[in-house]
Amino acid sequence: MSDDLTRPDLESDAELAFEGALRPESLAEFVGQTKVRGQLQLLLTAASMQGRTPDHILLAGPPGLGKTTLAMIVAHESGRPLRMSSGPAIQHSGDLAAVLSSLVPGEVLFIDEIHRMARSAEEMLYLAMEDFRIDIMVGKGAGATSVPLELAPFTLVGATTRAGLLPNPLRDRFGFTAHLEFYEEDELREVLARAARLLHFDLDREGLAEIAGRCRGTPRIANRLLRRVRDFALVHGRDADADAVRAALELYDVDPLGLDRLDRAVMQILLERFEGGPVGLNTLAVSVGEESETIESVVEPFLVRIGLITRTPRGRVATPQAWKHFGIEPSQGAFL
Ligand code: ATP
Repeated sequence: MSDDLTRPDLESDAELAFEGALRPESLAEFVGQTKVRGQLQLLLTAASMQGRTPDHILLAGPPGLGKTTLAMIVAHESGRPLRMSSGPAIQHSGDLAAVLSSLVPGEVLFIDEIHRMARSAEEMLYLAMEDFRIDIMVGKGAGATSVPLELAPFTLVGATTRAGLLPNPLRDRFGFTAHLEFYEEDELREVLARAARLLHFDLDREGLAEIAGRCRGTPRIANRLLRRVRDFALVHGRDADADAVRAALELYDVDPLGLDRLDRAVMQILLERFEGGPVGLNTLAVSVGEESETIESVVEPFLVRIGLITRTPRGRVATPQAWKHFGIEPSQGAFL
C-alpha cells in the first residue's frame, strides 16, 4: 500500500477521477516548468495568429510530471477537440489508421507512451504527421495495392517516459519537444496549495512544505499524499498542520525524504549486508525479492537523484549521506 503512494505511475480508476478533478485547464494555472510553458504559449499563439493547426509536440519526462495535463491544455487553449489514445492500444497499423481517419479538422491527437506503439504504425505515422496522408493496403498477397487516404489536418501530442527509445525519424517529425523536469519544493508547495484549495482542505503552510519535501519532485505523488493526509485529519479529527502530515505519512511508511518501504529495504541491504557496496543491481534486486526492472526504473533513479547511492563500473555504492540518513556507522572500507 505504502509503495503505491510513492510510485509515480500507478493509477486506479478512483485515482484517475481524483486526478481529473485537480488538473489545471490552462497554461496560466499550470505550476512550474516555466520554460516549457513559455515555449508552448508561443507555439500556440503563433499557430492561432496564422490560422493553422499547431505543430506536433513531443512531451518527454518521467511519469506524473504533467504530460497528459499539458496535452489537455494544448487542446483547451487552442479551442480544439482532443482525442486520447496510447502506444499500447496501437498494436497494428490498422489501429492507427482507424484513429487517424476519424479525426475532425484541427483535432489534437494525444498518444501517451508513444514509444510503445507497433513499428508498422510508427511508419504510418511518419507520413501522417508530415503530409496529413496515409497509405492503406487493400487486398492481400500479389494483388495487394496501396490506396492513399487524405487526412484532416491535426496536431499530434506524443508523450513518452523513454524519449531515447523513439526512432529518429519519428522524433524528427515533432516541431517541438519539451523535456519536463522534476519539480522544485517551492513549486510543489504551489501545486499542493492549489489542490488543497480545490479539495476545500485547509492545510497550513508548514504542512504543505512537509508534504512537498516527501513527494519525490512529482505532482502526482504530491496530490496523492495530500489526499491521504486529508483522510487522516478527517478520521482522527486532527488540525490540518505539519504534525498531522508527519503522523499520516509515518502511518503510510513515507519517510522525510520520500523514501518508501522498498527504497529503505534496498538501502538497508546495501548498507548492512553489502557494507555500502559496490554491489550489482541484480544481486540487490534478488536480495529484496523484487524484479530488477523495478529496482532499475523506479527505485534506483530516485536514490541516485537524492544522492544516496552512486553508480560505479563495479556496482552500486552508498554515499556518506546514505550512512548518515540511516544512522548507521560506515563499515571499515566504505568509500574506498
Ligand atoms: P504519466 O506519464 O503517468 O501519464 P503525466 O506526466 O501525464 O503522467 P499527469 O497525469 O499530467 O502526469 O499529472 C498527474 C497529476 O499531477 C494530475 O492530477 C495533475 O493535475 C497534477 N499535475 C501535474 N503537473 C502539474 C502542474 N504543473 N501543476 C499542477 N498540477 C499538476
